[in-house]
Amino acid sequence: MSVVSSRPTPDLPVSAAGAASAGAVLTVDLAALRANYRRLRLEAGGAAVAGVVKADAYGLGAERIAPVLWEEGCRSFFVAHLSEALLLRPVLPHDAEIFVLNGLAPGDEARCAAAGIVPVVNSASQLAAWSALGRALGKRLPAALQLDSGMARLGLSPGEVLAIEAEPERLEGVETVLVMSHLACADEPAHPANPAQLAAFRALAARLPAARRSLANSAGLFLGSDYRFDLCRPGIALYGGKPTEGPVNPMRAVARLDARVIQLRDVPAGTGVGYGWSLVAPGAMRLATIGIGYADGWPRSLSNRLGAFLDGTRLAAAGRVSMDSVILDAGGAPLSPGDLVELIGPHQTLEEVAAAAGTIPYEILTALGQRFERRYVEGRLA
Ligand SMILES: *Cc1c(COP(=O)(O)O)cnc(C)c1O
Repeated sequence: MSVVSSRPTPDLPVSAAGAASAGAVLTVDLAALRANYRRLRLEAGGAAVAGVVKADAYGLGAERIAPVLWEEGCRSFFVAHLSEALLLRPVLPHDAEIFVLNGLAPGDEARCAAAGIVPVVNSASQLAAWSALGRALGKRLPAALQLDSGMARLGLSPGEVLAIEAEPERLEGVETVLVMSHLACADEPAHPANPAQLAAFRALAARLPAARRSLANSAGLFLGSDYRFDLCRPGIALYGGKPTEGPVNPMRAVARLDARVIQLRDVPAGTGVGYGWSLVAPGAMRLATIGIGYADGWPRSLSNRLGAFLDGTRLAAAGRVSMDSVILDAGGAPLSPGDLVELIGPHQTLEEVAAAAGTIPYEILTALGQRFERRYVEGRLA
């Protein structure tokens, strides 16, 4: 059923009833996701590759993304919160490992254990609570032990690692299935923090029980074999973000964002455009208003910056980004209400949008709103 003209992507299936009323369409290319997972597995050599699907798989829909990764052979998944893990559990086979990166809030241990979810233990007090539950249940409950190798964010401090080594009974009731840490500067390959954290990780991990080890995120995976250990934990690269320095992105774009034209108008020179009249039409203009705004994660910092594409033609942003709409300079483009224009796609990449907004691709993706129509396709993004 094709409800409206959707010029840039006329052959995409309309997947949701009432979709024509959505102000924007987020298209997720599952074939590109699969290709990215395979590419990362190749790069990882012998190491296993997990899927980091926190923040709803970086905004793209964890319940759709995670099963696709499973089909590609992914067996370990990382989210940030127990609530995210509980949503993921029913969509993955029983033997999928789901880790909670932020660890457990006091009192959440029993729910976590009952659901078969593995906490990342980040502190001595979290370890004490998990161990107490394991002892009470007469079981060894699986845990990942995260140590802080030099980021000062999450993880056991060196002192806590030494205390565990000195008093191994602290691990009673706990089965250590993973020892992990996280790199602060992996996106800067020459940064001295990388070898420093690698050395700290090796030294501290040696004091903890023998288990699989994991250090690398997307960028860390490309730092060389020393950083890969047993399990790599890419997130952004799965979703098309560039994990390397240099001009070429080895990953395929997974997300495309198109917004719908709501209204067109012709205005004479001197017309104030949008909030604050931050643009005053220098001559006669044709304006197109599209149905996406900062409430949908299109950053207000893109006021009067970038714009959209109709096929290969750039339509510049005109005036400020509003909560629910953006005005474009339509020029002579053959636009009608209901048409879709590209905001993130082959002509305007995620990296370009992030750079223009003064942020990183992670923030653009994870901010993408809930009001879009979402289309999941296999290999028809461009
Ligand atoms: C978010 C996160 C990752 C994934 O990072 P990317 O840079 O997206 O690959 C891996 N490990 C931890 C601990 C994280 O918090």
